[in-house]
This record gives sequence, structure tokens and C-alpha cells, in this order.
Amino acid sequence: MTAPRLALELAVTLRHDGHGGVADDLADTAGLAAWLRERTALLDGAPQAAADAVLLTAVRELRAATRALFARAVHPRPASRADAHRLLPEDEALRRLNAAAALVPTVPRLVWAPDAPPQARSCPVGDPPAADRITAALARAVIAFLDGPERTLLRACPAPRCVRYFLKDHPRQEWCTPSCGNRARVARHHERRKEGHGGTKEGHGGTDAR
Ligand SMILES: [Zn+2]
Repeated sequence: MTAPRLALELAVTLRHDGHGGVADDLADTAGLAAWLRERTALLDGAPQAAADAVLLTAVRELRAATRALFARAVHPRPASRADAHRLLPEDEALRRLNAAAALVPTVPRLVWAPDAPPQARSCPVGDPPAADRITAALARAVIAFLDGPERTLLRACPAPRCVRYFLKDHPRQEWCTPSCGNRARVARHHERRKEGHGGTKEGHGGTDAR
């Protein structure tokens, strides 16, 4: 997984709960700790910080900025329904993202292990607090994603109840997962049948029309 994928993963911590509502993987510090634990390697090797309330707020605020900018990135296609009605203003989202990235200045460093290709890494200058390193690394991932080629592949899944952002992997992909595709097809089918029975559209199902 690349750093830009980390940006997407941050955004989708707000997700469909399977019952028509929205669940939040970063609802509390335990959720944040679990999420960070799975991504230690991507976060500049930042030590496992105590996922405290301060870091939770910082990451959630960064996520809100990210989702506002994702909504802008998919425009004029629809944004995720999870928060389309309460997005941060774009200038505030940009300011917040850039402020998070600026928490920790970095320098480039070349790492070249014997059995691997050379790799550029951004390394923190000095010894900043772990929480700042995590927030800044997430912000840099979001910046890299929005600046990179994957931005044009970003979509909000249009399936009923889904609120996920995903990357379109092939030109005809409409939904985030096959299961969302199935649900959307079933919903369309029911919608057509309903319209047919109501006799208001197209006359599917042999209704009277005029
Ligand atoms: Zn979906």
C-alpha cells in the first residue's frame, strides 16, 4: 500500500454500518489506536504514540478536511452521502490540511537496502512528538494523493446506503465493491417494478397508462 492509499484509508474510516447508518472507526481513542497499529510502517515509523484525546481530535479534524477536499475532487459527481450536508468550506479544509503537514518539517533521505530498489523517504527534522509525526504523515499522504494521478479515479460509491470513497480500478467500475453493485442492481429492479405498478412511467408491467 502506498502513501496515497493511506489518504483514502483515512477518509473511509467514516463508513456505512451495514444497517443504514454511518459508523466511525475513529469514534474514540481505542479505535484510533487500533487503526494506527495497522499502519505503523506507513506513518514514517512514528512510534506507537499514546492515542490520546488530543491526537484523536487532530486526526478527526484532518479527516474532515480530507473529506471536504475529496468532495471537491469528485465534483461535479456527487460526494459521499455521509457528510455531504456538513462539509468544511474548501479554504478552511486547505488551511487545516496544510497546517497539519507543517507540524513536522521533513528532509528527503535515500534508503537503499541490499535486496531492494532505492527508495526516497521523507524524514522528520529533529525529534518532534509522535502525535505530530503521525498527524503530519497523514497530511502529507493526503497532499500526495490529491496532487497525484489517482485523484481522477476517486469516486463516491452511489449504491444505496454506501458512503464509501473508492478508486475506480477499471473504466466500467461503478461501485466500490461487487456487493454494492449487486445491491444497487436489486434496488434499481425494485424501483422499476414500483414505477411499473404505479403506472406513472414507461408502462412496465402492463399497467393501464391512458
Ligand atoms: Zn459501495
